[in-house]
Amino acid sequence: MLCLFFENGKLFNKKLGEIDIKLHRPLEGTMKQLIIKRQGEKWYAIFCVERQAVPRTIDSHNAIGINVGLNKYAVLSNGMEYENPTFLCEKEKQLKKAQRKLSKRKKGSANYIKQVHRVRHLHEKVANQRRDFLHKLSYRLSKDYCVIVVEKLNIRNMVKNRKLSKSISDAGWGMFRNMLDYKCQKNGGILIKVEPHFTSQDCSSCGERVKKSLSIRTHICTKCGTVLDRDYNASLNILYKGLEQLLVMN
Ligand SMILES: [Zn+2]
Repeated sequence: MLCLFFENGKLFNKKLGEIDIKLHRPLEGTMKQLIIKRQGEKWYAIFCVERQAVPRTIDSHNAIGINVGLNKYAVLSNGMEYENPTFLCEKEKQLKKAQRKLSKRKKGSANYIKQVHRVRHLHEKVANQRRDFLHKLSYRLSKDYCVIVVEKLNIRNMVKNRKLSKSISDAGWGMFRNMLDYKCQKNGGILIKVEPHFTSQDCSSCGERVKKSLSIRTHICTKCGTVLDRDYNASLNILYKGLEQLLVMN
């Protein structure tokens, strides 16, 4: 695709002429490529740009550990919490209902085709909204912190657990990590991934291993008496592991 410029909020392309476009954010850097893609009933314009990298400044005082989970989307080691967006849950319910309806329709009938379109449309909506939520959250975090620590996710192992698997693929944790990674780089920060072993079990105050099943939401240390929200305790352990790793790296 060649020759494009914006005029009155329109995209111009030699082959297609002027196209109305909804620009989600201003373009930064030099435009290198334009890809026009159709997804369902919508068309998307994807711009590839080249820009100068921001030099990296690693300030370990401005570091944060993040625990991602199903109860709350993210819990930070400074106590901040980010809930799963409720609009997403509602849309997902609608999607399930639409899929059930589809399974009852006669294959190939007009109503079946109509329902296929409806399911596809809802699918896209859910995916777009989730992506949007993750973009905003990762943007905010990468702007606010120089060093971000997350757990390495072994999604393959976790997906073996059937109950968790649906939620995991829905939660977009892999996508969230990727976004954090490139956004940290873009802003001159760093994303550190640590081994997830025992981050939810160990006491963030004294290091004692306090075994607990997934349903136990509070960490109560039998050795030093620390009582913390399970996810918050994990986020502190994640942060400490990351800072240790950072010391070795430097
Ligand atoms: Zn303890």
